[in-house]
Amino acid sequence: MAGARAVRAAQGSDPSRRLYDRIGDFLVDQRLDADPANYAFAYHLLANPNGPLARAVTTLTDGGVRLTQRDIETLGCEIQPGAVAKGAKEKADGLVARTQMQVEGFQDMVTAMRAETEDFGRDLAASAEAISRSTDASGAPMIDEVARLTTAMLDRVRSAETRLESATQEASDLRRELEEARDNARRDPLTDLPNRRALEEAYKAQSASGSPICVAVCDVDHFKSVNDRFGHAVGDRVLKAIAEALSHTCSGHLVARYGGEEFAVLFAGVDLARARDILDAARVKVATKRYRLRESDAPLGEITFSAGISVALPGDGLSTVFHRADRLLYAAKTAGRNRLHID
Ligand code: GH3
Ligand code: MG
Ligand code: MG
Repeated sequence: MAGARAVRAAQGSDPSRRLYDRIGDFLVDQRLDADPANYAFAYHLLANPNGPLARAVTTLTDGGVRLTQRDIETLGCEIQPGAVAKGAKEKADGLVARTQMQVEGFQDMVTAMRAETEDFGRDLAASAEAISRSTDASGAPMIDEVARLTTAMLDRVRSAETRLESATQEASDLRRELEEARDNARRDPLTDLPNRRALEEAYKAQSASGSPICVAVCDVDHFKSVNDRFGHAVGDRVLKAIAEALSHTCSGHLVARYGGEEFAVLFAGVDLARARDILDAARVKVATKRYRLRESDAPLGEITFSAGISVALPGDGLSTVFHRADRLLYAAKTAGRNRLHID
């Protein structure tokens, strides 16, 4: 008994143990599930109590209000940059290293070719001078010398051409890979939709152009229960089907997978009423489709989503208008789901 108490006392003074306990207390106080996302959120919050995340949480919870799962998801984006997938980072590092090597290789090649051209110029000048001083009426030995020099230079030119050709090929391979990497960094692999980063860039470009913008946030209703009843793989297929329905119905506007079972639509050049009509058509399309299990043809039941749409006001950044749309989405959820709320 005394031993166990001593162990507990020692643990109490251990900073890691204290942080662990505080994370547990936080999750219990906020009535949050102890899942990895909430854990990571609590860790980032409590390990850096004066950081921007802690300040945002203090603002939200001021007056004793509990954090909702949605608040965690919205604020959760703050901790994303540190969680860059290791594989993707290694790949990007590899590309950067190869690009540097390419550039250095080009520099070496140009330096070597310049040196060879200078050598050739010097040799040519020397033989031209020798020819002009030549006493040999036929000039035959000099012509031999010029022929030798020219052949040597031709060999060098051919070898330089081969090296240039392979370097050019390597450069175009690299360019293609860089473009692919750039595209992958802006695309969601499951649905092939643009991701949050692409949405942010498109929003910046649109707001700079001055055209009217509405932002919609869509969230699949009771999606957890789809996973629970039919498994994650079926859930993934449902997400793909919703992505397709949204892209098709909202064609001409940017549909992004914002994260999890959440999609965003950037409506540009249309007013709020038009954006609502387009998205409502997508909502009806998703809600009326008969989803069936591929393997047994058994029905999955109704799949619906709720959404909030907000108009971007002058000077609004994406996070501002997104937050308004998110609040409207929350209202649509509490009003019964399978509906859109607009501001
Ligand atoms: P609500 O109507 O309130 O939105 O209920 P919900 O069940 O949709 O919401 P909740 O946030 O409780 O659950 C979201 C679920 O979405 C939990 C998570 O496992 C699932 N999910 C998130 N991303 C993916 C994914 O890429 N694939 C699959 N299959 N499931 C995912
Ligand atoms: Mg959600
Ligand atoms: Mg949901």
